[in-house]
Amino acid sequence: TGFPKESDLYVNSTATIKLKLSEPEHEGSSNKLVLVKNLYLSCDPYQRLLMERIEGYSSQPNSSFTPGSPIFGYGVAKVLDSGHPDLKAGDLVWGTTYWEEYSRIPAPEGLIKIQHTHDVPLSYYTGILGMPGLTAYVGFYEICSPKKGEHVFISAAAGAVGQLVGQFAKLMGCYVVGSAGSKEKVDLLKNKLGFDEAFNYKEEADLNAAFKRYFPEGIDIYFENVGGKMLEAVLLNMRVHGRIAACGMISQYNLDHAEGVTNLMHLVYKRIRLHGFSVSDHYHLHPKFMEFMLPYIRQGKIVYVEDIVEGLESGPRALVGLFKGLNFGKQVVDISA
Ligand code: NDP
Repeated sequence: TGFPKESDLYVNSTATIKLKLSEPEHEGSSNKLVLVKNLYLSCDPYQRLLMERIEGYSSQPNSSFTPGSPIFGYGVAKVLDSGHPDLKAGDLVWGTTYWEEYSRIPAPEGLIKIQHTHDVPLSYYTGILGMPGLTAYVGFYEICSPKKGEHVFISAAAGAVGQLVGQFAKLMGCYVVGSAGSKEKVDLLKNKLGFDEAFNYKEEADLNAAFKRYFPEGIDIYFENVGGKMLEAVLLNMRVHGRIAACGMISQYNLDHAEGVTNLMHLVYKRIRLHGFSVSDHYHLHPKFMEFMLPYIRQGKIVYVEDIVEGLESGPRALVGLFKGLNFGKQVVDISA
């Protein structure tokens, strides 16, 4: 409960590792274990939600972390040995893995094979080409129903998801404003990522006044990453028939009692569509998303900022740092060495 601390996680060493699966694991038809060397681990806000059991968060039983066992999350890995017919030694994959140097993955259906080309960094499969990228794509294009010229606001805009939503909205010809928690992040949004405007929400005593300044005509689309007071102030400034994609509400994840948003009647007054979504329902779109995304990366039309720390021992600090905004872009832990 509460804010996660570095000391909530610890690094453990085991004396021996078997770098081959044993024979019966290969032969058993129901046993499709895959042995991988993990290369990049992704730090994602939802991992905080797995630190406690939250009613309604996941339909899967036992999907939260088990104290004393390795935590899990998205990552990029290399297959060392495989009992699964679709994967072989040497393949690169991304998907759910454990925070370990080597993992035996019992349900490799959750791993997607990477068609690696050396002009795209492998770490991108934790971010722009992986779960956060697909979240931005689905959230913006499928949930927000955007149109050219619309006014778009994105919170946590310098993060893994937000930085892409802003660039997608610019490609569509929208007016785009982002909020972030430091001057450096605001500069990034305006000077490198092409946002029309950005502001540091920590320096705005009156969020409503900030929205009146940046959106004198109101907001058509709000890409919600933060929740709480931000959502309350946005609701006052939405336009009639506006859309809100409720992607996440990170400001609420560490609170014992979530903050109440008291002005939800604005949804009715302004006929706003507030639509929560989970990327997990949209993985079938990943191949289409790759076809869309790769040319933009190669042509330099979309850029991606990563914050990469080295070594498993850097993982706890990197993960809990998300909740203090210490990450500058997509937070990744490189354990490829
Ligand atoms: P980020 O890379 O944006 O990292 C989190 C950022 O949130 C921090 O850097 C910090 O930035 C900001 N933040 C932390 N605490 C607060 C707070 N109390 N108030 C306001 N901002 C805060 O994360 P992602 O881009 O990966 O995730 C963004 C959101 O999307 C999260 O809510 C996440 O849960 C959600 N998500 C939802 C998915 C879905 O399927 N619906 C899938 C993936 C992500 P700053 O310095 O600007 O404060």
